[in-house]
Amino acid sequence: MGEMKTYSGSCHCGKIRFEVTADIGKASSCNCSICGRTGWLMTSVLSDAFKVLSGAEAQVDYQFGSKTMHHLFCGTCGVRAFGTYAADGQDKIVVNLRCLDGLDIDALEIQKFDGKSY
Ligand SMILES: [Zn+2]
Repeated sequence: MGEMKTYSGSCHCGKIRFEVTADIGKASSCNCSICGRTGWLMTSVLSDAFKVLSGAEAQVDYQFGSKTMHHLFCGTCGVRAFGTYAADGQDKIVVNLRCLDGLDIDALEIQKFDGKSY
């Protein structure tokens, strides 16, 4: 914990690849209607710390409710690896930690996030 690290990640079929630099010691488990269904463990970063390396054109954008978030998923394999949103005037990315290479999910401290109430 307490270490900034760059992780690579991808959807299941590998069309969409990305890189994120973050200190990931904790993961949020969200109870909203979409995360609850897809079992996300996530963290949020500023868009500066995130880069799509390939497959941007393979992404499908899904929005619902207040449409504040772009719930992107791969049009081929259906995996939702990350999403984008704006908060406090900044562009942010929420990353599905289960899609990162070499991250030990079981070592993370899981925090509950009450997305249902937003
Ligand atoms: Zn895919």
